[in-house]
Amino acid sequence: MAVIEIKLCLLGDSGVGKSSIVHRFVYDSFRPYMENTIGAAFLTKTMIVEGRTYKFQIWDTAGQEKYRALAPMYYRGAAAAIIVYDITRESSFHAVKLWLAELKRHASPNIVLAIAGNKNDLEDLREVSYQEAQDCAKSHGAIMIETSAKSAINVASLFVEIGRRLSNLD
Ligand code: GDP
Repeated sequence: MAVIEIKLCLLGDSGVGKSSIVHRFVYDSFRPYMENTIGAAFLTKTMIVEGRTYKFQIWDTAGQEKYRALAPMYYRGAAAAIIVYDITRESSFHAVKLWLAELKRHASPNIVLAIAGNKNDLEDLREVSYQEAQDCAKSHGAIMIETSAKSAINVASLFVEIGRRLSNLD
């Protein structure tokens, strides 16, 4: 069966758990002290969603997100993007709007968009409500899901949801 290759970009402030989400998805494990870069331009993982085989080519920012303006090649040809924030850090949620603006400027208007509220294992430290994130996602037509790369909550589901959206496009 045909393999559908999907370039997917991860965006979001430094320290929100982007590399940890990729690591959880690709290797199903968690390393508490992740180095700042994953040492490669992208990692790939194949997943079957609704009978279609998707090969996700996942681009992490490799620490460049501090400068916010990522190289245009980072976005070029991307069919999906995940903007990650940390549910225990409100500033990282405010930054979601800045990342949305970056996508609007540089990415395809048809990009499948997901917003992931990571670290939802840290409920006691929560600063961003589920509802406000839902409202934000809804107004941008984005998928919204809370994840924990640490506890393996909803990381696979995040990619399944993206696969579903991609299937519905054609
Ligand atoms: P990045 O800079 O966005 O790629 O973030 P990292 O993946 O490097 O993670 C930043 C820090 O948050 C690291 O110390 C991780 O161990 C921690 N972290 C990442 N995901 C989670 C999570 O789901 N729960 C908790 N409690 N910590 C996490």
